[in-house]
Amino acid sequence: MADYVIPAPQVAAAPVVGGGLFPVRRIFCVGRNYAEHAREMGSDPDREPPFFFTKPADSLVTGGADMPYPTETNSLHHEMELVVALGTGGADIAEEDALKHVWGYAAGLDMTRRDLQDEAKKTRRPWDMSKGFDHSAPIGMLVPASHFPDPTRGKLELRVNGAVRQSSDLSKLIWSVAETIAYLSRLVRLAPGDLIFTGTPEGVAAVVRGDVLEGVVEGVGTLRTKIV
Ligand code: MN
Repeated sequence: MADYVIPAPQVAAAPVVGGGLFPVRRIFCVGRNYAEHAREMGSDPDREPPFFFTKPADSLVTGGADMPYPTETNSLHHEMELVVALGTGGADIAEEDALKHVWGYAAGLDMTRRDLQDEAKKTRRPWDMSKGFDHSAPIGMLVPASHFPDPTRGKLELRVNGAVRQSSDLSKLIWSVAETIAYLSRLVRLAPGDLIFTGTPEGVAAVVRGDVLEGVVEGVGTLRTKIV
């Protein structure tokens, strides 16, 4: 036993379909990975290199639990995304080897304090507090990669109170799952337990307390959370 001077933090984890927990080390997120979303955010969707930001592992909301409306925002936006869970890590991973590192997939939400993010963009400040706040990453159950062998296609949809808000397909990702893993592994040494939120399609919008968010990635699974 290590000689910790306070109790060691709990390991964050996400439930797996059929039982068990996937322990989460870090959460990486890709920005602007669908052309129509880049356009709605006022950017040029040309194939510039992917860029990344992070959320703390303990920002996950699992098991269909409620998401508390965060403090210090009047514009909480949903971003429906495919989440990739890495079972093995590495640096300088080749694109053709990248999917071998994937343990599984899940549907996830990259919840965003859009007003704080807009302010951060304007003032050239970091995104941490607009993206990496408490409870900012609701996630559905993980499925093993063998259940979803081809992450280059699959419908992705988010409903808010039953109405479709985001609807797209993984075939529209600017940077594929394999390309994203390869690229990110040149910036950091990836590790078992790392999650990658792969970016959101168009249709992002604000939610309020009482809204029920239901997402699905075809072939992967669903997620559900209520804003409280
Ligand atoms: Mn996102």
